[in-house]
Formats: sequence, C-alpha cells, structure tokens
Amino acid sequence: MKTEHTLSIIKPDAVAKNVIGAIINRLETSGLMIVNAKILQLTSIQASEFYAAHQNKFFFNELINFMISGPIFIQILKGYQAIKKNREIMGATDPTVALSGTIRSDYGYNCTKNAIHGSDSKKSAIREISYFF
Ligand code: ATP
Ligand code: MG
Repeated sequence: MKTEHTLSIIKPDAVAKNVIGAIINRLETSGLMIVNAKILQLTSIQASEFYAAHQNKFFFNELINFMISGPIFIQILKGYQAIKKNREIMGATDPTVALSGTIRSDYGYNCTKNAIHGSDSKKSAIREISYFF
C-alpha cells in the first residue's frame, strides 16, 4: 500500500468563511488523516517563497496579496495515494469548472480565491512539508 504525505492549505477565503471544519470533514471522510496542523498568517516573503514556481506568471502579485490577506490553516495529510487523492477532492484550480462535489466547486470563488492548496507531486509535497514543518 502506497502511504504518502501531502501538504494542504485552507486558504484565507475559506478560513474567513468559517469552513475549516467542513473542509476537514471532507478530507477525513475520504480517508485522509491530519497528522500535523497550524494556523499562520504568511508574510509576503513566505508566500513568495512558497509559490516561487509561479513568480513569472501574470497572476503572481494577485496570488501573493491574496495568500497574505488573512490567516491560513496548514496541514499535513497522510493516506493511501494522498497526493493524488487530495487533488481529486480539491477539484480543478478554477472553481467554476471544478467537478461538482469538490471542495473548490463548493467553497471557491474564482481562480485566485479557490479555497484550498494541495501539493501536486511527491517532490512538491516534500518541499512544501519541510517549508512549514
Ligand atoms: P495550488 O498550487 O494552490 O494547489 P493549483 O495547483 O490548482 O493550485 P497552480 O497552477 O499551482 O494551481 O496555481 C497556484 C495558485 O495560483 C492557484 O491555486 C490560484 O490561487 C492561483 N492561480 C492559478 N492560475 C490562476 C489564474 N489564471 N488567475 C489567477 N490566479 C491563478
Ligand atoms: Mg499548484
């Protein structure tokens, strides 16, 4: 059985909407286990380092301003194929095209304010987990 760890962030829009519990419930009922967690408000430097892969994208400044706009809930999830499973439960980046029943479809607003982050590969998961924990 391929047990993995992945990094999940409930973003400022979802924290402000008071849906941390609702989102965690979806993760847990899908078989993912929270093995570490904390609430933080990122500095601009932290958000820029975390999303460094996107520094040349047109949306980078908007993304950083959003990610520092309020507290975020950062968690390590553990489970069978956790990286892929978490991405499936999250849904597509754009909530308006995310599959019905996904977290982004139900709690996201637009491409930037999309409720949740999840590591997209084993390599990203290792980097992102060690960035925050
Ligand atoms: P995340 O890395 O946050 O889990 P993702 O892997 O689905 O999201 P990425 O391509 O890695 O998507 O983009 C990182 C984040 O940048 C997105 O979650 C979103 O907040 C923002 N973003 C991505 N594409 C756009 C866009 N076209 N316009 C505005 N913001 C965007
Ligand atoms: Mg990504």
